[in-house]
Amino acid sequence: MAAAAPLKYPELTWVDGTLVSHAKVSIFTHSLHYGMGAFEGIRAYRQTNGGTSVFRLREHVRRLFESAQLCMMEMPCSEDDVAQACLDVVRANNMSEAYLRPLVFFGDEAMGLGAVPRTHVAVACWVWGAYLGEEGLRRGIRAKIASFPRMSSVAFLTRGKITGQYVNSILAKREAVLAGYDEAILLNAAGNVAEASGENIFLIRGGKILTPPLSAGILAGITRDSLMRIARDKGLKVEEQLFNRDELYLADEVFLCGTAAEVTPVREVDNRRIGSGAAGPITLALQETFFRITRGEDSAYRAWLTPLDASQHPTVAASSS
Ligand code: PMP
Repeated sequence: MAAAAPLKYPELTWVDGTLVSHAKVSIFTHSLHYGMGAFEGIRAYRQTNGGTSVFRLREHVRRLFESAQLCMMEMPCSEDDVAQACLDVVRANNMSEAYLRPLVFFGDEAMGLGAVPRTHVAVACWVWGAYLGEEGLRRGIRAKIASFPRMSSVAFLTRGKITGQYVNSILAKREAVLAGYDEAILLNAAGNVAEASGENIFLIRGGKILTPPLSAGILAGITRDSLMRIARDKGLKVEEQLFNRDELYLADEVFLCGTAAEVTPVREVDNRRIGSGAAGPITLALQETFFRITRGEDSAYRAWLTPLDASQHPTVAASSS
């Protein structure tokens, strides 16, 4: 079997305050063994009027620190440091668009479940196009309800974006992809629709927009929060409400949202056509506004964008290690 071609990653990664060339970790890295770590996914967008801006940088960095707090991982730097690192790493790699991956992990200083090694922080970045495909963004994707339920908030810390917890998402996603679908939708242990493997979920019926509440055990998505605000600003009714799989099947429109997937329509769930079987009109209107905002074309949402400011240079020395 031919090995998949390796992704070409940009040269520089910010690691514990320094920009490192082709950063690597030790095989004895604690987080690699046991999955205790926290991470984020953030996008930097090219702006229509020039330059690059990071979308909702502060909120992502805040959630990273909350995830670390849930894991009792002592952060060695401030939120400002991580926010600055995000800007620096994109600039240092000369990128105009990027997906950013802040990662908090336990190092190789100690091994074993009871060990508390040092907490390290890295910010990597790479180019990541439409996560569920360009066609998926335009036409909608086909989703399957996974046989794996969303992990329970009794056993896990579902509000955190915690590395090891993603085994649950990976199992669901692989099951869906192997069965010929694009994405997995997970129910929670009570049988309510929770979210997709890496996205929050919305349905629209009779002009009303519904999304599961955080108490369903979902990640508090920043794109979810953005879209609730955008929809309400358009005068649409949005409610956080539990619903079951049958309500998904009977929806006029369904869409998924997340930093990687942005706003992706769902045209089919478990082989049942959603609405007309194409991307719905409200979904497409929300998607269009979302992309206008991320490109800096809507001044009402300027506060969600942090410009890279091309005139500045990274404050940390490149490749000192
Ligand atoms: N749910 C899960 C499980 C996710 O991994 C993500 C991606 N971070 C989301 C929802 C969407 O969150 P956000 O909009 O903040 O990227």
